[in-house]
Amino acid sequence: MPAPLVSFAGDSSLTNRGFHEVRVKSRQKLTPGMVRVTFTGAGLSDLEVTGIGDEYLRLFFADPKTGRTVLPEIGEDGSWNWPEGGEKPHSEPYTVRRFDAEAAEMDIDFVVHEGGIASEWAQAAEPGMAMTITNPHGLYELPGDARWQILVCDATGLPAAARLLEQAPSHVQSRVIVEVAGADHEQVLALSADDSVTWLHGSGNGVGPGRLEEALRLLPIPATPGYIWSAGEQKSMRAIRRYLRHELKLPSHRYKVVGYWIDKLDAWQSGWDALDTSIREKIDAAWASDRDREDVRDEVEATLEKHGL
Ligand SMILES: Cc1cc2nc3c(=O)[nH]c(=O)nc-3n(C[C@H](O)[C@H](O)[C@H](O)COP(=O)(O)OP(=O)(O)OC[C@H]3O[C@@H](n4cnc5c(N)ncnc54)[C@H](O)[C@@H]3O)c2cc1C
Repeated sequence: MPAPLVSFAGDSSLTNRGFHEVRVKSRQKLTPGMVRVTFTGAGLSDLEVTGIGDEYLRLFFADPKTGRTVLPEIGEDGSWNWPEGGEKPHSEPYTVRRFDAEAAEMDIDFVVHEGGIASEWAQAAEPGMAMTITNPHGLYELPGDARWQILVCDATGLPAAARLLEQAPSHVQSRVIVEVAGADHEQVLALSADDSVTWLHGSGNGVGPGRLEEALRLLPIPATPGYIWSAGEQKSMRAIRRYLRHELKLPSHRYKVVGYWIDKLDAWQSGWDALDTSIREKIDAAWASDRDREDVRDEVEATLEKHGL
């Protein structure tokens, strides 16, 4: 087994710090827009999986110059503290597409896109390459009385949507809308007889304006209890959340809308950095408060939108 490539001061036990080291077992091209990397290794044996269909973890990428990964110290309150003056590693959240404890295997499906460290790493992944990951965390919370669910996503949410369908209770009918770059990016999904899927081609995903909200508006919302889960590009998700929360007036336990990535991230980051410090502090304070999360999100999204972010 090659030596661990991870470093931080003090205790060298990764697991005690909530981190796990895994290795690439294989790489497979699923479609022109998606690469599957299968991981293995002792680090999977104590991974605290939740079993929730959209559970995700963070991948920490090694510094390409040193080949080493610097990890944060985790404070007693769970906060991450970075070494003084040290470079923070590139780290990105990805969904656990499949976890098999017996075989000690985990699949992660990476969208192939221009200019991303994670995306490029996945396309070049070779057996034996190391990766440091955190424990996963799930967001999807199907209410006990739900008779149906609507899953709406772009390519980044497809791994989670596919797993959610595989794990859907038999009494829950699923309607699915997936936006991908082209017809050859479609994947086979585990649909039951009552389920249906609509594929949108050539939009969103950095190739054009997103059409997820438009497609969702065309779906009749049943009168029986249900749940709507949506994941994808930040601004598309903002529009969907506004529709569900402010037009349909769904209570927050009836939907989960998650921004998975930001289109034209560099421009967004420049806009964020240019914001007046007091605005950024106000946003940080709102998130740190114990106010209702959805109320905070309303406020933060309105501020971001006002500033074109
Ligand atoms: C909870 C959660 C789960 C996620 N699960 C998955 C998953 O299973 N599979 C997956 O592929 N992604 C998933 N994502 C999204 C993924 O983390 C982001 O796409 C991430 O930005 C990719 O990192 P990167 O280093 O490749 O690119 P970055 O360095 O973040 O960005 C580089 C450039 O690429 C652009 N970019 C980033 N992502 C995309 C994209 N998908 N399409 C087009 N352009 C893009 C950015 O705007 C930027 O200009 C998930 C995100 C979250 C929050």
